Amino acid sequence: MFCFQCEQTARGTACTTTGVCGKSATQSQLQDRLTGTLVALARVEDNNATDATWKLVLEGLFTTITNVSFSDEAVEAQIQKTLDEIDRLCGDSCDPKTCSCESLDMDTLWNGNEDVRSLKSLLLLGLRGMAAYAYHSYVLGLTDDTVNRFMLKALKALGEELPAEELLALDMELGTVNLACMALLDKANTGTYGTPVPTKVSTYIEPGPFIVVSGHDLKDLELLLIQTEGKGIDIYTHGEMLPAHAYPKLKAYSHLKGNFGTAWQSQQKEFDAIPGAVLFTTNCLMPVKDSYRDRVFTTEVVQYPGLVHIGEEKDFTPVIEKALALGGYKETSMRTGINGGNVLTTGYGHGTILSVADKVVDAVKAGQISHFFLVGGCDGARPGRNYYTEFVKQTPKDSIVLTLACGKFRFNDLDLGNIGGLPRIMDMGQCNDAYGAIQVALALANVFECGVNDLPLTMVLSWYEQKAVCILLTLLSLGIKNIYLGPTLPAFVSPFVLDYLVTNFGLTPISTPEKDLAKILGK
Ligand code: SF4
Repeated sequence: MFCFQCEQTARGTACTTTGVCGKSATQSQLQDRLTGTLVALARVEDNNATDATWKLVLEGLFTTITNVSFSDEAVEAQIQKTLDEIDRLCGDSCDPKTCSCESLDMDTLWNGNEDVRSLKSLLLLGLRGMAAYAYHSYVLGLTDDTVNRFMLKALKALGEELPAEELLALDMELGTVNLACMALLDKANTGTYGTPVPTKVSTYIEPGPFIVVSGHDLKDLELLLIQTEGKGIDIYTHGEMLPAHAYPKLKAYSHLKGNFGTAWQSQQKEFDAIPGAVLFTTNCLMPVKDSYRDRVFTTEVVQYPGLVHIGEEKDFTPVIEKALALGGYKETSMRTGINGGNVLTTGYGHGTILSVADKVVDAVKAGQISHFFLVGGCDGARPGRNYYTEFVKQTPKDSIVLTLACGKFRFNDLDLGNIGGLPRIMDMGQCNDAYGAIQVALALANVFECGVNDLPLTMVLSWYEQKAVCILLTLLSLGIKNIYLGPTLPAFVSPFVLDYLVTNFGLTPISTPEKDLAKILGK
């Protein structure tokens, strides 16, 4: 096997025998086969794609994101569905000697030239991340032909011999297309569930049966809320599902109670002997321990051997029955965030922040706000990620910290006070709500009649999996410079590509909170 797609990759280079994430060598090879088959599909598509074709492409790419699929059977079935679609697209006249329907052997990429591998990996991994966002939009009824078409173009490019300049241009194009894709998902989420509003969320778990919903899929959460209504079961979010509390149509359900647990990577400890059921709608699922194996369920593209999978019919009866049988805690379980706080605030999407834009602008002009930080991205298990907690704690008292994605669990239970009626920490939502952060930055630049790079704004990002890759490419495609990135640099970025990113975009690896803050603030 060869996999270096996430931040926890073995020795900082690649997982070659088994995945640090728990992915087996067989699973890794199957995921490579699935990717190679998608390349073949892209080659033969020839404008004959149907809705089913696009769904296959999105599912196939999403399946290969870190902490999504551990099931060989599920990936084999996905490969077969893709091969069947290739057969349909090729038609009866397909001659394997002349047709381009042969799957790409991904080893040719992994064993090829280091810089080509790096540029193509940026493309493939960014594509995987973008496919997840496109999939969530698709579930809510919105698709975009430009996004779909680019996926095929990029997949095809993986199997072609292209010069570095062309691959770099494709990487930047992915960033541009991903902005459109995130805009689409923003429209799907807010169009379906309303504009998020600031909402306080408790970390306590009340007595009685409960279900914890993890992942990013708001539709699954809604369906579960509907199916549990009046059944005496409380629903709690976990990880990236936390911002769901802020959507008016979801917060209207009185049994959507609070948030369970802290960072996603603590799930093996926090789910240990949990007296409730857990539903994973997307990543991030870690290898499941015996102490809670019987109470974890999966749906959509997440699959794990031996766990009950809720299929397309979305009948959550097994999850509901398990929650009722387990019965929940007898008394309130007084859990807290990483720093001891018991209230998390979310719902500061771009709709809310821009609605008080005049307040923000006044506060900047009056010297009450000196700097904005966007501290966001994915969390992970490495000890170095404490940087983000310390960084936020040390930000000046007259600065605002915008945050998004699951990295915020490092500091979202801190109370840093307010400035001009605005909380100093504002949670903008899930990772895809990077779109909202971009909208806020562009709006501020517009008001102050300057470029985004001239604003007193610094982005300090943490990465773990592939959605972070497409977001980074989007920021770079917008010309945003001097982004701080950590906790380590991606293994798939070769020295040549890193030099390009540092020279052209001022991409900066994080060092220590003290040093980085001093540099940012010019002290
Ligand atoms: Fe290793 Fe990450 Fe790949 Fe898992 S996803 S095999 S941890 S590089």
